Amino acid sequence: MELNKQSDWVARSLRSVWHPCTQMQHHETIPLIPVSRGKGAWLYDHEGRRYLDAISSWWVNLFGHANPRINAALKDQLDTLEHAMLAGFTHEPVIELSEKLSALTGHVLGHSFYASDGASAVEIALKMSFHSWRNNGHADKQEFVCLKGSYHGETIGALAVTDVALFKDAYGPLLRASQTVMSPDARAAAEGETAQDVARRAAADVERLFIERGDKIAAIIIEPLVQCATGMAMHDPLYLQLVRALCDQHNVHLILDEIAVGCGRTGTFFACEQAGVWPDFLCLSKGISGGYLPLSLVMTRDEIYQAFYSNDVTRGFLHSHSYTGNPLACRAALATLQIFEEDDILNANRVKAARLTQALQPLAQHQQVRNFRQRGMIWAFDAIDAPKDFSRRFFATATEHELLMRPIGSTVYMMPPYILSDEEIDGLAANTLAVFNKVMAG
Ligand SMILES: *Cc1c(COP(=O)(O)O)cnc(C)c1O
Repeated sequence: MELNKQSDWVARSLRSVWHPCTQMQHHETIPLIPVSRGKGAWLYDHEGRRYLDAISSWWVNLFGHANPRINAALKDQLDTLEHAMLAGFTHEPVIELSEKLSALTGHVLGHSFYASDGASAVEIALKMSFHSWRNNGHADKQEFVCLKGSYHGETIGALAVTDVALFKDAYGPLLRASQTVMSPDARAAAEGETAQDVARRAAADVERLFIERGDKIAAIIIEPLVQCATGMAMHDPLYLQLVRALCDQHNVHLILDEIAVGCGRTGTFFACEQAGVWPDFLCLSKGISGGYLPLSLVMTRDEIYQAFYSNDVTRGFLHSHSYTGNPLACRAALATLQIFEEDDILNANRVKAARLTQALQPLAQHQQVRNFRQRGMIWAFDAIDAPKDFSRRFFATATEHELLMRPIGSTVYMMPPYILSDEEIDGLAANTLAVFNKVMAG
């Protein structure tokens, strides 16, 4: 009985669970790994093997699995209030979280609207932008602009501002058209061009579009500094400054999707801080609850909030989700923010990042690697002439080296939790090199 446990879980899962972002037939050859428990940066399977969670379980788990401080906060919250509806009622965790987040923006983004997942936060920002223009007498501003290679989630509205063919093409007929502008991806630099030159070129593309049809455009949505899901495409903060100015000049809202890049991932708490600009809408999710519970939110400027404030019901933002502002999720987020403060995480991460970048030098200088790049707690590089099925083979080989990693196409990346010890950092670098060499050798 005991001996078969692992394979029993696999068989039962494949019989009843439809796994996300997966061609299920691939599990005939690729292992499915049943996780029995997690501790710190590690996940453990039923046979006692362990896996270093180098991608924070799809970028959510900031402070490791079974974090003692988040666990304690949740146990306390569980015995106090597990849930209450947020229409007509309010509660301490959602108030405190909204106040703390507002303070982190210097109160520029004064109100937070809550949902449960990232795609819903994007839907909310799009709807709010359109509706606030309408309330202000600009009902003709109905279009949205996104970047080449953008990813903002996979519900119908969010997919419309996503530019990843693999996720989008099959559903094309269902989607509202959006305008796509050049990505400021620094890898697009021509001979002799800097990342800032690329940023200027990409901003000029935005300007061209705004001049042509700015009066029809409600908002441009951008994932600041790193376009993660398209393969960790990094750009210069200058791009955000230029686009912010263009938005002001042409009366277009700026939506920043910080679902992946927020919460310290790029080195500052909000990525946009590195450009010294604030958006009109800022979307957060993923890491905000420490990877514990589904939580997302949209922060807005007071002008946006005021555009809905009226004695007329239909001028209000009537959007809702059942679990809006769930107290347990908000409490997990508060515990997460407290760890940032208590452990001075942003500074501690600088030290960890320097060590991992150093340890990854054999890969940075590897003959089969190009575009080694890093920002904050994100590392990525592209395999040159990657063999067929590189991503899936890398994932499978990594599991044999105690690693959880899922390359995006031929881009290998790391987004580890912020709690790695020096030993774990060095092990991560050494094992990644070993896995890369094995996969490239075929
Ligand atoms: C993950 C992600 C989303 C979607 O969030 P879900 O919770 O998966 O719906 C949106 N935007 C970005 C930038 C993301 O990384």
